[in-house]
Amino acid sequence: MDGNQILLLGLGIEPPWKLVDQRLDTDKQPHELHLEVKAERGAKYACPVCGRECPAHDFQEKTWWHLNFFQHHCYIHASVPRVKCP
Ligand SMILES: [Zn+2]
Repeated sequence: MDGNQILLLGLGIEPPWKLVDQRLDTDKQPHELHLEVKAERGAKYACPVCGRECPAHDFQEKTWWHLNFFQHHCYIHASVPRVKCP
């Protein structure tokens, strides 16, 4: 199990989502760990209403402040899809 897999396990992220970038900003005090998660291209997502697997209609960049990663503040960045459900 590599470092990325351990982070994914800790975050509870499952396919089609994957960790594509991680950086520690040491200019900030406390330091900030930034994680970027992204889904596979062409992935389908469950409709929040009916649960049907649908293609993404568009995406919106979002950032969440997660629980601290050890002593570092942790932020998660992701493109959140809106699905086009029939
Ligand atoms: Zn639906």
